[in-house]
Amino acid sequence: MIGRFAPSPTGPLHAGSLVAALASWLDVRAHGGPQARWLVRIEDADTERCQSGMGQVILQQLAACGLLPDEAPVWQTRRTALYETALSQLQQAGLAYPCGCSRKDIDEALARLGLVHTRHGERVYPGTCRDGLHGKKARAWRFAATKFQGAGGPLAWADRRLGPQQQDVAREVGDFVLKRADGPWAYQLAVVVDDAQQGITDVVRGEDLADNTARQVLLQRALGLATPRYLHTPLVLGADGSKLSKQNGAKAIDTGSRGAAQAELTAAARVLGLSGDDRAAWVAQWRSLYPDAC
Ligand code: GLU
Repeated sequence: MIGRFAPSPTGPLHAGSLVAALASWLDVRAHGGPQARWLVRIEDADTERCQSGMGQVILQQLAACGLLPDEAPVWQTRRTALYETALSQLQQAGLAYPCGCSRKDIDEALARLGLVHTRHGERVYPGTCRDGLHGKKARAWRFAATKFQGAGGPLAWADRRLGPQQQDVAREVGDFVLKRADGPWAYQLAVVVDDAQQGITDVVRGEDLADNTARQVLLQRALGLATPRYLHTPLVLGADGSKLSKQNGAKAIDTGSRGAAQAELTAAARVLGLSGDDRAAWVAQWRSLYPDAC
């Protein structure tokens, strides 16, 4: 069994990200034997949003909480050759195409089709460049999700906490971006390649990411990769009821002393429905809450 915590270094760990870190660590300790490993991957592929030095800050915060990876952490920006290989595999299979659309082009195409449809503020791509760039310059490479999904209908997957899930990627998301022409690799491609290359068997992460899973499963199938098990953890909400995030200014966890770090961990354990303040007890409780890993 191999689990992982994969933070984006866009800010320090906050109470919400610590929940995901603790949960993935507990899952490996609860279900893995002596060979099991818990890995940390710094997801800095999406370079525009990342802050320099923040990966190290996160690793120090994890260490202060006693969450030590079983192998040296990996950094996505040092792994771009892997993403290049995956993109060319998709290109060769006719499952990736260049797209020249700006946001404005996409909005106009959606309006023409009578589909003023956005999903969480993201535009559902109407497929404009599927048959060619129409004289435009390529801005991105997209995954031909619609073609790959074909007549298969919605993609079904099971979450270890949330139960059966499904999403019609072609209709609800459209052909999504794999890489921007000006550089950054999209999260979807990088995460799928890394999870497979690192042999991850169990992905445990925040519930806000659950909606990405169907896209990731489609990409795994297109690339001939195994699909790990997924478990999405409860989110920590701010005082206004919205999800805590770096974007809305969630404050860094306090690791200034052992006692402070322990209090942060205990708070994270409560979000996961665990009682007491002892890790061995949390591991045992986790095993009975989520028995079905390896
Ligand atoms: N890097 C992503 C984030 O920090 C998480 C990716 C994942 O766990 O799949 O939101």
